Amino acid sequence: MLRIVVDLNRCESYAQCVFAAPTVFWMKDEESLEYDYAPDDSLRVQVERAAAACPVQAITICWLDKQLGQQGESHDEQQ
Ligand code: SF4
Repeated sequence: MLRIVVDLNRCESYAQCVFAAPTVFWMKDEESLEYDYAPDDSLRVQVERAAAACPVQAITICWLDKQLGQQGESHDEQQ
């Protein structure tokens, strides 16, 4: 499974990612980037282009093993 994290503290709203992958990244207004953090795997090439196009390297792409995505909730209570 494909996952995306954008460091919004680093992002400077250049919108290069929006041009590279418009179904995954979009601008809410002139300065606010929004994105689909879990796009379909078929969009991998677009997402990789977007990450490569970001001038401040704000986009991190992660691949999750399907089994990891199916893990149940953890109830690790501490006292
Ligand atoms: S290309 Fe990078 S800096 Fe520009 S909007 Fe996308 S994440 Fe932000």
